[in-house]
Amino acid sequence: MAKITLDNLAHSYLPNPGSEDDFALKELNHDWEDGAAYALLGSSGCGKSTLLNIISGLLQPSQGRILFNDRDVTHQATAERNIAQVFQFPVVYDTMTVRDNLAFPLRNRGNDEAYIAERVQEIGRMIDMEDMLDRKARGLTADAKQKISLGRGMVRKDVNALLFDEPLTVIDPHMKWELRTQLKKLHHEFGHTMIYVTHDQTEALTFADKVVVMYDGRVVQIGTPDELFERPEHTFVGYFIGSPGMNVIPAKVEGRTAYVEGSEVPLGAGYGPLEGKVELGVRPEFVRLSADEGLPVKVRRVEDVGRHKIIRAEFFGSDINIIAGEDDVVGADMNRVVFDPAHVNVYANDWRVQGAAA
Ligand code: ADP
Ligand code: MG
Repeated sequence: MAKITLDNLAHSYLPNPGSEDDFALKELNHDWEDGAAYALLGSSGCGKSTLLNIISGLLQPSQGRILFNDRDVTHQATAERNIAQVFQFPVVYDTMTVRDNLAFPLRNRGNDEAYIAERVQEIGRMIDMEDMLDRKARGLTADAKQKISLGRGMVRKDVNALLFDEPLTVIDPHMKWELRTQLKKLHHEFGHTMIYVTHDQTEALTFADKVVVMYDGRVVQIGTPDELFERPEHTFVGYFIGSPGMNVIPAKVEGRTAYVEGSEVPLGAGYGPLEGKVELGVRPEFVRLSADEGLPVKVRRVEDVGRHKIIRAEFFGSDINIIAGEDDVVGADMNRVVFDPAHVNVYANDWRVQGAAA
């Protein structure tokens, strides 16, 4: 197991990159703590696989270094880095049995056969394929083959890190939940450093101790699920995480007061002069409908989603979402909204500004 350090790392797929736009991965410095479970979260094309493949050694970065436990591995081949990687689509040996596929990484490392037999049985149980161990991989469904790939990724206990690149894409929904639980269990048991790539926030938030959010080739925030919820450092984190995501509202900010379309909105902290595009970010959980105070809205639709209600409304020509309790009544006269000042974040050019408490 290892701490993984990214030092001044950046990558461009172009031979002679010029501006920042030419980089699929913008400059990045980060320590992945030994033994932590991370999710790497972001929409398609933001650079997740690029980063993972640099860590595993499938890709040579155009700039910077990678260190495992402070040892430079930038120019080491994948095999020398002693890691397991599982990809989005299955990589299995069709002519081998499921058992031999699972045993492969262990045989490769020269483990003894008694240990291999026991460990393969254990993994077979974890991926729910115990009764298929003697079948050839050929002819199995994509779903079953992907479970073999996952099993092979998990079979060795002595790896530096486990890297998963959207491994549950072809797995059916029920099994997804089951396998994610198994991965978490594996993490608790062996404490591997794990990096799990996904574009699905639920998957990221349920799997990881820490979530690394990427946007357009850049890591925009690394935090616990709570931190991402309470203090999104970038507007992208605010609306990508949460359902619905954070409301982002153009505003002017002066001291402890914001002005939205000329109306005053009290803030929970004080702010100095701000440059560029200034916005308020407030999660739907911290917006309340009211009949007699706040800013005007037009309620469009109320969705009952069980635990709570989502209210979709129009706010100065844009959309705003509000979350209310399942028993809250949405009266026809409720055409105003109030923001909870302690939960209003202020953004300048999409980055969160830390306010000064009174
Ligand atoms: P993600 O895994 O988050 O979907 P990728 O890391 O695969 O994103 O891709 C990041 C960016 O790099 C995208 O714009 C993608 O088109 C580009 N890219 C990925 N692989 C290559 C490649 N082999 N050659 C050129 N461009 C690539
Ligand atoms: Mg990818």
